[in-house]
Amino acid sequence: MTVKELDAAYVAHTYNRFPVEIVDGKGSLVYDEAGKEYIDLGTGIAANIFGVADEEWVEAVSRQLNRVQHTSNLYYHEPGAKLAELLCDRTGMKKVFFCNSGAEANECAIKTARRRAFLKYGDESHSTIITLKNSFHGRTITTLAATGQDGFHTDFGPFTSGFVYADPEDTEQLARLVKENGCCAIMMELIQGESGVTVLSREYVDAVLRIASENDLLVITDEVQTGNGRTGKLYAWMHYGFVPDIMTTAKGLGGGLPIGACLLGEKVQDVLTPGSHGSTFGANPVCCAGAVNVLQRLDDGLLAGVEVRGAYIREQLEGTPGVKSVTGMGLMIGIESVRPAAEVAAACIGRGVLVLTAKTKVRLLPALNIPMKLLAEAIDVLKEELAK
Ligand SMILES: *Cc1c(COP(=O)(O)O)cnc(C)c1O
Repeated sequence: MTVKELDAAYVAHTYNRFPVEIVDGKGSLVYDEAGKEYIDLGTGIAANIFGVADEEWVEAVSRQLNRVQHTSNLYYHEPGAKLAELLCDRTGMKKVFFCNSGAEANECAIKTARRRAFLKYGDESHSTIITLKNSFHGRTITTLAATGQDGFHTDFGPFTSGFVYADPEDTEQLARLVKENGCCAIMMELIQGESGVTVLSREYVDAVLRIASENDLLVITDEVQTGNGRTGKLYAWMHYGFVPDIMTTAKGLGGGLPIGACLLGEKVQDVLTPGSHGSTFGANPVCCAGAVNVLQRLDDGLLAGVEVRGAYIREQLEGTPGVKSVTGMGLMIGIESVRPAAEVAAACIGRGVLVLTAKTKVRLLPALNIPMKLLAEAIDVLKEELAK
């Protein structure tokens, strides 16, 4: 059987895949089983920060892989300790809990917020977490409950209770929901990725911070997709001039290996205690070695390069035929197209350019170091397909 036939026969059908089998790659170029070349503007959904098989990253990961691949959290290891230090140094956060995915990082954030409220009030009276409509926080039962999209709330109930959804940009409603519910936190993506790359306004985020501060609510930012240089700053909150109480990240953190992190600020650094949370593979040393390499390279020069590339894409696409609007920041870009997004994506793939969709939009999440020449080539193809 071919790989596609094996997949159809044996893999749970939870994904509608594009008809491409990826077998090889280098940087922002990937190759299918027939040797056809693609310029990759999706990077495995923002995971392959430096593209495929980046030499320096491969070396860092291989070095660790050849020493010890896993220890469990019963023992110390350098890559995990070093990664935690790097994350805290670069963000001002105080402690890091490591896990394996974005959903798990959000689970940790939710548990931490609830435990802080429980320790403070002695009961579950302040356990509600406000999240935003059109958010996406993961696929576990609890992170689905946190996800403010009705479409995700069918067939799988009962869900974890204690989540209330607010309309983004409606400050009065948020204030009312905080009054009506016993709340412990507000959780948000500063750029809502999966639902169409929608950027929260500075005014709204300022209002969230004010309401949170007036009511002693924690501010949790979900940086699973926006994090690790994607938007042109290390984390998206750095564009808004505040520091969250809890921040989660995953996707790009490991450069293509599965790792998630929940970063805890001063108010919550001691909330989790031995035995209260854990993960067998959390802080896996190989994944941590990959993440250390990623963070060490995400310096000002690289982030400036993200801004330059992002600005180039906007300039090329804004106001061109078939494009209604372009949203996002840095190299996290949503394109509202006249032609259906799925059709544009399929046509681009036919022409050797991998792009993604998010709801009704075309979505681009290229490698942060994609060579300008390849980017220009891919954007030319995309422009032609958008105009059709
Ligand atoms: C992808 C994503 C998640 C879920 O991450 P997984 O690693 O798939 O569990 C959570 N939040 C946001 C904002 C995401 O983009």
